[in-house]
Amino acid sequence: MASPVFHGLAGMGLAYAMAGDKRLPLFSSLRKAGAILGMAALLACLPDVDYLPGLARGYLNTTHQQATHSVAWVLMVSAGIWLVGRAWRPARFGGRAAAFLLILVGSHLAIDLLTEDRLAPYGIPLWAPFSDACVPGLFAGLPAWDKTSLADMGSRDNLRALGIELGAGLAFAGGCAMAKRGWTRRKAAL
Ligand SMILES: [Zn+2]
Repeated sequence: MASPVFHGLAGMGLAYAMAGDKRLPLFSSLRKAGAILGMAALLACLPDVDYLPGLARGYLNTTHQQATHSVAWVLMVSAGIWLVGRAWRPARFGGRAAAFLLILVGSHLAIDLLTEDRLAPYGIPLWAPFSDACVPGLFAGLPAWDKTSLADMGSRDNLRALGIELGAGLAFAGGCAMAKRGWTRRKAAL
């Protein structure tokens, strides 16, 4: 399972690609861009809220890779955020915002399925609560980071795994930015 480093950078890249500003550079002010990108990183990491109970115990995996890593949870949380947004600013929360939320929160599950998994439960309960079965990762594209105890965080293996995530995350975000540059030159942004 990837760490917030890759999830966050991937979220930022996807948000940059999907943001509806067709000007280049794509955000008119850094402050505005920072808020959108920060929010996107947070949304892409959202299923990992299940680390929090473990954080209190110093063992992050206590409740990790459970119901928050399911399609039903992603749909429910995205719908909940969309409804709150819709009540707050109806003009801003239409179909596009719904797709934006689904893609960002859903990216988490896709990325976790493309990361090495070295600890049980293997895979994620994609179809919970309808099925308890864990769907195993499809392909170990990124190395797993070690988070059994807080003391493991700074280990050499971890620094290597997080360094690879940082490089891959920056490459992904850069790819999103380049793709957007490509299509905003040809036609209006999505
Ligand atoms: Zn996760």
